[in-house]
Amino acid sequence: MHAIAKVRPEPGLEIIDVPEPEIRPGCVKLRVERASLCGTDLHIYNWDAWSSGRMKPPRIVGHEFCGTIVEVGERVTDRAVGDFVASESHIVDPLSPQYLAGDGHIDDTTEILGVDVDGGFAPYAVIPAMNARPVPTVVPKDVASMLDALGNAVHTVMDGPVEGRTILITGLGPIGLFAVAICKALGAKKVYATEISPYRMEMGERLGTDLILNPAKEDVDAALARLEPKGVDATLEMSGHPSSLNLALKHTRKGGRVSLLGVYADAQQHVDFNTIIFNGLQVHGIVGRKMWETWDQMTWLLAEKGLDVTPVVTHQFDYTEFESAIQAMKSGQAGKCVLSF
Ligand code: ZN
Repeated sequence: MHAIAKVRPEPGLEIIDVPEPEIRPGCVKLRVERASLCGTDLHIYNWDAWSSGRMKPPRIVGHEFCGTIVEVGERVTDRAVGDFVASESHIVDPLSPQYLAGDGHIDDTTEILGVDVDGGFAPYAVIPAMNARPVPTVVPKDVASMLDALGNAVHTVMDGPVEGRTILITGLGPIGLFAVAICKALGAKKVYATEISPYRMEMGERLGTDLILNPAKEDVDAALARLEPKGVDATLEMSGHPSSLNLALKHTRKGGRVSLLGVYADAQQHVDFNTIIFNGLQVHGIVGRKMWETWDQMTWLLAEKGLDVTPVVTHQFDYTEFESAIQAMKSGQAGKCVLSF
């Protein structure tokens, strides 16, 4: 079969011929139908410091995908041939104490699909059965391909109360855009956002953001002080931009929460810790998806609360055109790019 892979320790990705993966105990084999590109794939493509320090080529890439189960391994009792499922990219030891205590998303044993082990940018993939998450039938396949990423947004948004609350989302990349739709589905009173890209601002408006402030064009600090003098109930930091970090701390109300998902290029950041202390802020780091609470919440949002994130899918390609998908992502003029297999 074909697979999109990192073949050599250098920039780029290639389509290669590999044998179809064989079923293993505890695993399921999927016929992959759609896959979604993620910022992580771009890091791998560019072969930056993070990916070159972690990956051992050759490796089939891709961690966001969906498909139909065509084979079930020994000991698998809760998945069946014909089930339509989406990938959870974090593979953890199901017997690890952290996982069993509900902290699987930060488990020491975590291996990432398409990074540490072969991923799903191929017509077939074999993954642990518990990583194959059943998808509600109402979910379009393009959306099913990116539930791993949507789960990051669900985890961040539902890290605290949302209904009737004012929420500030800093950064409207795909995860920030998902967060807007989730906040709306959960009945947020008002959703503010910051973003500098006109393309993403337009998408944010379409998803129902009440007001988007552009730091490149206006004084966001002054605008927020005027709009929400006591601060918003919660800020979701999704940009990884240092200025957003301090904006979040300054404009979240006393006792409010600041949920941090964006990753900073420089891990050392200068922040006002006294604001955190004297304002009694709840500052939470968010990574991955809770196993499996976040997936249950996401299923409920999609199946029962009408969560619709289809506007975030802006590009569809055949897998043979993955280079075009990478270029679309690099241009910044893209939401999520989906590949068909
Ligand atoms: Zn991803």
